Amino acid sequence: MRSTPSFPRHITWQAYNPDSDPQHDLLLDEVLRVITRLRAPGQWLRILQVDLRLRGDIPEVVRHASSNGLSVQILARAGTLPDPATLAVLAAAGACDVAMLDADASCFVPACRRPDPRAAPAFDERWGLHVTACGDLTPDPVIPIVLGNVRTADVVDLYQNHPVLRALREPDAIEGKCGACPHRLWCGGSRARAFALTGSLFASDPACTFVT
Ligand code: SF4
Repeated sequence: MRSTPSFPRHITWQAYNPDSDPQHDLLLDEVLRVITRLRAPGQWLRILQVDLRLRGDIPEVVRHASSNGLSVQILARAGTLPDPATLAVLAAAGACDVAMLDADASCFVPACRRPDPRAAPAFDERWGLHVTACGDLTPDPVIPIVLGNVRTADVVDLYQNHPVLRALREPDAIEGKCGACPHRLWCGGSRARAFALTGSLFASDPACTFVT
């Protein structure tokens, strides 16, 4: 049985949402506060869809995360890859990995890696917390269930005690084939895909071809 973490294994932050009003983007000190409150050994911060032409304080976020022991991966929006000078600033600030979504958003194209980066882990929606551009907290970037907002919620209390997050971390909450599968403790199926295709976070992953 895997242990239940008191803090997320990874944090994702959508640094800028081009569909929203930039005025509603999180302020730098709000981002730094979330990182400070949620930090834990071995943790990763993944910054999503950065467009550095719109947000110039990313290097400071990277520096803060690195100095608090987090490894940082940055995924840039297709077509907005930073120039070499900016990549160098991000690497100097402590970013382990900067990559860009390819044109059809199907894979990440590495653009900059530190010489000895730890491999970025698979980001499993059961063990993380996602912060949207306006501060909403969801389990994962592709699970749009708003659990609270960083401006009003205690992020540590929310991560440890919100019933949706607690249930996501509970293997026995998974239903159907995934719930009966011998691999459910380390795999568990994609909760995001189950939610997208069935409307239930806890349904079996419809895409799995493993026959139990
Ligand atoms: S996705 Fe497949 S392998 Fe993973 S827990 Fe579900 S049934 Fe098992």
